[in-house]
Amino acid sequence: MRRWVCPRCKKGKIAPNSPATLDVRRWCLPCSEETGRLVERTCPARDRENARRAASRSATSRRRREAAERRDRDRHSFDGLDVRVETRRLLRLKAWNGHFTGRTPPNVEVVRSRTPGTSGKAFPWGNSIRLIFEAGNDRGTEAPETTRRKRSELRALIAHELAHLVARIPRPRGGSGRRAWHGQRWRELFRAAVAEETGVHIPTGDRTLPQIWSDAVDAYLQGPEASP
Ligand SMILES: [Zn+2]
Ligand SMILES: [Zn+2]
Repeated sequence: MRRWVCPRCKKGKIAPNSPATLDVRRWCLPCSEETGRLVERTCPARDRENARRAASRSATSRRRREAAERRDRDRHSFDGLDVRVETRRLLRLKAWNGHFTGRTPPNVEVVRSRTPGTSGKAFPWGNSIRLIFEAGNDRGTEAPETTRRKRSELRALIAHELAHLVARIPRPRGGSGRRAWHGQRWRELFRAAVAEETGVHIPTGDRTLPQIWSDAVDAYLQGPEASP
């Protein structure tokens, strides 16, 4: 039972929590008689409760949304860098010859793996790249130069995978495809991207893939700290 109050004469009446529409206790009869229109009593306690419940519902949904955003940010962060922000910056490079202009930006998938080190995969026909990080190796708790090296590797890795998206070489199957996958076309794109980002021109000529990779990481280490 609750107290129902007439908004006009402020007189109250005890009635059930939700009296039926035709329940006489729902209506202030003297005021209805005086005004010629039915005057409905309200229940301040119930209104307050409803308001409280609505507020807590919206707080819960806000908390859930914030938690989801936090999880999303954590999933895409590596040593304090947001890989989506890094990718967005790299997508703007002129080195890609406008490949990404006016297209849906590639999807960046992040995978935490038990395998040590950082690696990546590109899916030119799925317009997506996958970055694979060693689980637990992405918290900036070590020496600044270690963090700087890891960030350089991350940037070189994204440039590496984006170059695959632009090169659009058929996916490697067997020996010759594998050569083309990191062949002349991919190398030119990757070198141009690294040079544009870092201002450092990495060596051309007969370099192995690991050599090109360490050239690129060195370029990022020498170049100015990139800003998103
Ligand atoms: Zn009344
Ligand atoms: Zn590759």
